[in-house]
Amino acid sequence: MIPFNKPYLVGRELEYIKQAVDSGKISGDGQFTKKCQLFLQQRYGFRKALLTSSGTDALEMAAILLNIKPGDEVIMPSYTFVSTANAFVMRGAKIVFADSQQQHPNLDADKVEALITSNTKAIVPVHYAGISCDMSKIMALANKYNLFVVEDAAQAIDSYYTGPDGVKKALGSIGHLAAFSFHETKNIISGEGGLLAINDERFSARAEIIWEKGTNRSAYFRGEVDKYGWVDIGSSFLPSEITAAFLWAQLQELDRIQHRRTEIWNYYFKHLNPVQAKGYFRLPALPAYATNNAQIFYLVCRSQKLRDSLIAALRAQDILAVFHYLPLHRSPFYTPYHDGRALPYADAFAETLLRLPLYYELSPTDQDSIIKAIISAASGVI
Ligand SMILES: *Cc1c(COP(=O)(O)O)cnc(C)c1O
Repeated sequence: MIPFNKPYLVGRELEYIKQAVDSGKISGDGQFTKKCQLFLQQRYGFRKALLTSSGTDALEMAAILLNIKPGDEVIMPSYTFVSTANAFVMRGAKIVFADSQQQHPNLDADKVEALITSNTKAIVPVHYAGISCDMSKIMALANKYNLFVVEDAAQAIDSYYTGPDGVKKALGSIGHLAAFSFHETKNIISGEGGLLAINDERFSARAEIIWEKGTNRSAYFRGEVDKYGWVDIGSSFLPSEITAAFLWAQLQELDRIQHRRTEIWNYYFKHLNPVQAKGYFRLPALPAYATNNAQIFYLVCRSQKLRDSLIAALRAQDILAVFHYLPLHRSPFYTPYHDGRALPYADAFAETLLRLPLYYELSPTDQDSIIKAIISAASGVI
């Protein structure tokens, strides 16, 4: 059986977890947490980085930091994971869904301005498959209308955006805030895990407080205040040192992981590209301003029927390929609140996108069988 995903262990995870346990400190904000945060801050140019228990938690922290309240509107794509919206809905926000681009699941930055009202508080671009949204356009709108930008960079570790000025920036370092995920389906993992990147100094001090249950405990441990207490709302957003120790092992091997995933991605592209001309499916479109971090390899099939037949044909050969999001404007929970606009491209990706197995240990032989199976199934169906 070829699974869709297989979490990859680099080898030193248990050694570091043992170190954490032996040190006698396994709650959060210890040595491994600090190592991970510093590494990510320095490598990607975040002003501040706080590990969280999940990407969802990082998004929830962002919503609290922006003081999202009932009546506020937040613009985001419909084609995304539920947490992107839920974090803001939990604070009472109304979600205004933007459609995807025709060529890519990412939101269409040219269609965002028409959605801005006097109640709009934030834009949440999601870098689908680690491919950047058009960040210059989004940041320009945020400046013009005085909005905040929270990048949902859950899938976007080690991916970059190059602006019209030629400056290359890491995803997650551009918006005021950004959320990453280290869930076992992402490139770098810790089981469950995440990161809040803070790029606007105004949020730094309060982020630490929200992270530590609404207390100024972090400042206390740095000796900045002589006692600590309850100063704001907050929750327990920080992961334990056991999680951080696991993550540290992974971060040390980030380049090796990225190299192998990219090889697999490129191999799919090379061998499926010639078949693209037959019109059964399109391969991922990469805008010139974006890099590819090899988080997801997907096909956009000509029809839902073809997509579903491919899933079945692959499954018959014990290969697990899967579709992705059901658009949030069509979800049982949020449909009653949606303003009713049609979002045809989000619908189209929900119906036709197919993700292929992509994990570090995918063997060349297995990858060849996947490619062969797709080519023969696709030609059989048409
Ligand atoms: C994975 C993911 C999340 C949530 O991350 P968790 O760590 O699973 O909470 C949020 N948004 C997107 C786009 C994701 O892919």
